[in-house]
Amino acid sequence: MDVDASGVPQVAVTGAVPSGPDTDRLLTEAHEHASRHAEGAVADYIPILAAADPEVFGVCLADVEGGLHEVGDTRVPFSIQSISKAFVYALLCDALGHERAFEMVGVNNTGLAFNSVVAIELNDGHPRNPMVNAGALATTALIPGETTEDRWAVIREGLSRFAGRALEVDDEVYRSESTTNHRNRAIAQLLESYGRIERDPGGVVEVYTRQCSLSVDAHDLAVMGATLADGGVNPVTGQRVVAATVARDTLAVLAASGLYERSGEWLFEIGLPGKSGVAGGLVTVAPGKAGIGCYAPRLDAAGNSVRGQIATAHLSRALGLHVFASNPHVEERPR
Ligand code: GLN
Repeated sequence: MDVDASGVPQVAVTGAVPSGPDTDRLLTEAHEHASRHAEGAVADYIPILAAADPEVFGVCLADVEGGLHEVGDTRVPFSIQSISKAFVYALLCDALGHERAFEMVGVNNTGLAFNSVVAIELNDGHPRNPMVNAGALATTALIPGETTEDRWAVIREGLSRFAGRALEVDDEVYRSESTTNHRNRAIAQLLESYGRIERDPGGVVEVYTRQCSLSVDAHDLAVMGATLADGGVNPVTGQRVVAATVARDTLAVLAASGLYERSGEWLFEIGLPGKSGVAGGLVTVAPGKAGIGCYAPRLDAAGNSVRGQIATAHLSRALGLHVFASNPHVEERPR
């Protein structure tokens, strides 16, 4: 078995994740290993986020059979923040279809920070990446609905179907972000000036701020991820949320851009589509197998949960989840 620099044996597996005790043991190992890390800093540009306990740490894996494995603080609520972008994008793809979603918001990494204005200017006003603020605002603006409230209902109900329970806005987070989100308002207006947002930009930022303020826990993220892993069907409720092709397209976008400008490093280390948020949430998807939800508020410089990444890397290796890993079909062929 290969052991790389991380020291965790790298296995390659096709099919389901191992059942019960094995997965529980690996989850505990991943949690213990990542708990030793205290690097990074809790986000404070949204004032309320600075109040988070930096030591809170939960890891949950939901498999496509609906089985749950949990370690640590998996039921501590936090705001979903940027992770909402992945699921709102899936709802948009479901509503608009592959071609139109591709054309309107794009699928490429900008290589720049999530709140970059420069990225918009460099691309002639095209948002380019639905996993950073400009592309996410453009995505939210395209969600069908007559009024701001109608569009908000589509998003809240859609994300609730992914989670398998009615998600609610955390009012304190919403108020804190609403009074400080000048940059997002500027981004929405800039997109309007380029004709990329055709609705009132103020209403778009309002819906976007609410979607970012939805309260979830690590267990919710795992179930939401497992829904994308399971061809768009929530494995806990059995309800179809989006089409299988939409789940596929969303995961492709996450693989390219889910961890902001660190997406390449993430894919290299973990080999799975994922999405992070500045409150410290991280969702990772092993297609056909499982969703992994983590919560640990200390972030790296790009805004990704440090412990979440370390725990997920451990699980990806130990459970053989890396989508690019394979073993030779025949050990050695005579030449
Ligand atoms: N609501 C946050 C913002 O718009 C989300 C950013 C994030 O999670 N990276 O700034």
